[in-house]
Amino acid sequence: MSGHHQRTSDVHAEAIRKFNQHDQRYTSQRRLIVTVLAAADRPLIIQQLIKRASSTKKVLAQSSLYRNLVVLENVGVVQRVFSTDEVARYELNDEILGHHHHLVCSKCGEVLDVRIPEALELNLDAALLQIAKRSGFKLDQHRLDLIGRCSKCS
Ligand SMILES: [Zn+2]
Ligand SMILES: [Zn+2]
Repeated sequence: MSGHHQRTSDVHAEAIRKFNQHDQRYTSQRRLIVTVLAAADRPLIIQQLIKRASSTKKVLAQSSLYRNLVVLENVGVVQRVFSTDEVARYELNDEILGHHHHLVCSKCGEVLDVRIPEALELNLDAALLQIAKRSGFKLDQHRLDLIGRCSKCS
């Protein structure tokens, strides 16, 4: 159940590739955001991003943070995660982080990453493919959230 799906150097290499594709610059601030997200085991809210970045001895400039997150989202490095509260959470794109699911706390809004065993994923995909097919829908991927109460709230 960890976010460490890829080595951080691989994550940056993939990020650089996406930035080049979109003719955008992979600045040190954007790199810092990616470093922090790559080390996290869950999607992070803004305050967590800033706090975790400070422990790397580098300063995450709050003034440009939102703009940098928008750019990271647009080039496909970062994605927003939706929870039961209104607070924005960010994680690395599925393509980089690898396919996973979320445990979502309906009380505090906390989101945890969770990986389902591969055999179960395959069964799930096969079943969902059939369900989608019946509606004439071509399935590309699935998202599945598990809603409940986290260990602090239960
Ligand atoms: Zn909770
Ligand atoms: Zn899945």
